[in-house]
Amino acid sequence: MVGPVAVGGGAPVVVQTMTNPDTRDVAATLAQIEAVRLRGAELVRVAVPDARAARALFDIAPRSGLPVIADIHFDHRLALLAVEAGAAGLRLNPGNIGDPVKIRKVALAAAKAGAAVRVGVNSGSLDPAMLAKYGRGPEAMVASALREAALIEETGYANLKVSLKASDVGLTAAAARLWSQYSDIPQHLGITESGDSRSGSVRSAVGLGILLNEGLGDTVRVSLTGPPEDEVDCAWEILRSLELRSRGPNFISCPTCGRCEIDLPSLLADVKSRLADLAVPLTVAVMGCVVNGPGEAGAADLGVAGGRGGGRLFVRGSRPRALPYGELAAALESAARKMAGEREAAGAAAKGREGRGRPEGAARLKTPPG
Ligand code: SF4
Repeated sequence: MVGPVAVGGGAPVVVQTMTNPDTRDVAATLAQIEAVRLRGAELVRVAVPDARAARALFDIAPRSGLPVIADIHFDHRLALLAVEAGAAGLRLNPGNIGDPVKIRKVALAAAKAGAAVRVGVNSGSLDPAMLAKYGRGPEAMVASALREAALIEETGYANLKVSLKASDVGLTAAAARLWSQYSDIPQHLGITESGDSRSGSVRSAVGLGILLNEGLGDTVRVSLTGPPEDEVDCAWEILRSLELRSRGPNFISCPTCGRCEIDLPSLLADVKSRLADLAVPLTVAVMGCVVNGPGEAGAADLGVAGGRGGGRLFVRGSRPRALPYGELAAALESAARKMAGEREAAGAAAKGREGRGRPEGAARLKTPPG
């Protein structure tokens, strides 16, 4: 558990992101937490680079709409302060805290406060001793995480999660697979430093997609050089594509071609922005013409098939309605909100498909590699 959010053990895969304002700016951090919450984030991590940032958590954690995970490097005292401030979780980097006494102290404090701990291994900041022993590869990452996890579990602490991140998709996948051979501690998945919206989304979709499809991963974060709202959107797109979770509108739109007689990209952007806050799963088709439009829009919950200067609006259970271009987005929005309201009232609000947990009672730590 991270706060009230179930992680691992059969729970649905959880969407996480990270804020990017200076954590000492409480108002900006809280505003961004709310923005990502509305987009569907379920856990949020904040950077805690110094004591002022850690103290800001006393104002952030109790007012946050999401469980807050404090991201700690180098100084274990920041972790102790974050736990005291009410952080629901800690992310510790085994490569840069080091001292086992300090790690145990943090574990005991986290256990007392009921805070989760993630051992977050990053291929770029591996413990030099592990690098010397195994070289820069999945074995060093897994061995680092196993050593840290064992250290923490020796204190009796049992609310652990690990992550083994690299910017390289192959290395991340190899590390995640190797981890699953040695431990059943839940895994947080992410391709780190994966680039801007375009390259980061593609790399994350490939990397996380491969692993999620193999049944690995309990929480995910898409890392993008860009707004965290985009990270959340991308994470949901990945989970939706794999049919692991469903939330909000699933858009189907055509690439357009010489047959398209309306400004479809603008219409799609308008409809997406109008429905950005909807959490109820709906399939919405925005199609350019009558070739594939009526088929896709008619099969979706609702949709539009473009024509000359306008299009036909399709709503499941109703006859298609011809409308001018300028009225299509508003009509689609109004129909989508009505349908979402009816589904919510019928108790069909967004629910994730049951996740795939690891077998209960399996050994949590096995023999380290090498
Ligand atoms: S739906 Fe029509 S406009 Fe869109 S790609 Fe197909 S043929 Fe072209």
